[in-house]
Amino acid sequence: MLGFDPGEDRKLADWPTLVRYYQALAKASDRIRYHELGHTTLGAPFVALAISSPQNLRLLDRYRELNAKLADPRAKRPQDVEEALRSGKAIVLITSGIHSNEVGGHLTPALLAYRLASDTGAATRAILDNVILWLVPSLNPDGVTIVANWYGRTLGTPAEGTDPPELYHAYAGHDNNRDWYAFTQVETQLVVDSIHNVWHPQIVHDIHQQDSDGSRLFLPPYLDPIEPNVDPLLVDGVNALGTAMAWELAGEGKTGIAINAIYDAWTPARAYQHYHGGVRILSEAASANLASPVDVPFEQLATRARGFNPRERSWNFSHPWPGGRWALRDIVTYQTDGAYALLQNAGRYRDRWLANFLAVGSRAVRGWRGWPYAYVIPRQHQDSIGLVTLLGILHRGQVEIRTALHPIALGAQRFPAGSYVVVLRQPYAAFAKTLLEPQRYPDLRLYPGGPPLPPYDVTAHTLPLLMGVTAVPAHDSLRIALSSPVEPPSASPSSAGFAGPEAPRVGLYRSYAAAIDEGWTRWVFDTWKVPYTSIVDSVVRAGKLRATFDVIVLPDQSPHELLDGVRASTPPRPRAAWARTA
Ligand SMILES: [Zn+2]
Repeated sequence: MLGFDPGEDRKLADWPTLVRYYQALAKASDRIRYHELGHTTLGAPFVALAISSPQNLRLLDRYRELNAKLADPRAKRPQDVEEALRSGKAIVLITSGIHSNEVGGHLTPALLAYRLASDTGAATRAILDNVILWLVPSLNPDGVTIVANWYGRTLGTPAEGTDPPELYHAYAGHDNNRDWYAFTQVETQLVVDSIHNVWHPQIVHDIHQQDSDGSRLFLPPYLDPIEPNVDPLLVDGVNALGTAMAWELAGEGKTGIAINAIYDAWTPARAYQHYHGGVRILSEAASANLASPVDVPFEQLATRARGFNPRERSWNFSHPWPGGRWALRDIVTYQTDGAYALLQNAGRYRDRWLANFLAVGSRAVRGWRGWPYAYVIPRQHQDSIGLVTLLGILHRGQVEIRTALHPIALGAQRFPAGSYVVVLRQPYAAFAKTLLEPQRYPDLRLYPGGPPLPPYDVTAHTLPLLMGVTAVPAHDSLRIALSSPVEPPSASPSSAGFAGPEAPRVGLYRSYAAAIDEGWTRWVFDTWKVPYTSIVDSVVRAGKLRATFDVIVLPDQSPHELLDGVRASTPPRPRAAWARTA
């Protein structure tokens, strides 16, 4: 189907080719079912594969129902819960390729699916019997094609192995993996709505790549800080499973594996599952130059990384990699064997994964000591777009939202009947609390009295602060009746002031050095139906902009990028797939 063996040097496939491959694989195997969940930003099919034993696949609906009993243990009969524990399967979601220049992630799912479809050994049969795997072979199918086309065009030129000079997600670029609490992009919505919220996986494995000069592979445990609303059992599960995978891979002779390094677990922007009963197993393999091999002598490895030294052995980096050639084959081998080790663990410890999953849900519906009883979100005097956006996010995250049937008194504050109430005794209370309370990022220092330790990533995700909405914690029971869970109203974009002949003519500058903020700005304009024209350098150089535009928007971008653009060796870029004007 592909015309090459995935992992061969300098060979990539575009998305239509991979889709044909997965369709053919599902047709040839009774262990694989092919599904299309919807369409991407640019209209490509968004694919998910269900992989398990043929018997399990025939009973998929039954296993989904059993798992749902453990996900929300409220009002379930004890014998039903026991049956779900006894007969249920471990539900695993493996996702790949969200960052499209991490190209091993485009091919590893093909190798993994093929291995699970064709291998007749006892280890694979045990996985298929005990695990239902949902495999999303690309979280960003549009980017698979963007990168494959760019790589093909530049092969054999000085630009071989460079990143394409356009965003590999049309709106969000690399930020597509910061969307797991805002759900702005259609790809995020498809995975949350069709897999997370339906199948409630106990284990979610997301396959990434990192720089070339550090560890060959990162696996959890994560570094501190761990966001404090994540159930401790999930943290324990992450630590146990990541370490078990590293141990398995080391036993196979692989070196250069770092655990408890670089990556923290603070933000829900990357970790929907940490608030929905699942563990997040991130893997980060060292990169080559896209599909072109690199040579990394030992002396060129970094001497410092967060939590370890790539040239020195330590408890969390037990066997340094000796340096040398590093190729796509190495990447897909580490990734495929890592995912296989994860599946083996899921199958072998099915009982423990299900029991812990039930415990996390049970603790959430009982409520955690020290947590507020509820958050009250008044309707009055609030920006309605911000309010409905916030409620929509909570609702999509399966948080139950109720309304007060009577006025609420909290100390001196009074809120009218009809105010929204989120009670923090429900399966996904942690998601609500994390997004409604102000963050307190810990004051971490390099050493006592020393400079601050910079955080890995974004540190704040309080929706009321981001959206200008009031949400008030109620520490005790409200002692009033509440409605059943309600559907929040939906935000309806209106283009008042931006349409018609009187509307300003808006231009949005698009640099040849692709800026993520330019993508986000287009997303805002498209979402709110603001007409605009993209302005590229040739248009700016031609001048007379006043004749064509009333307003020019410059995205947030470094002066260096604006002035110097891309490297001179970069070939002329193709017309962007989303481009609406010349
Ligand atoms: Zn990545």
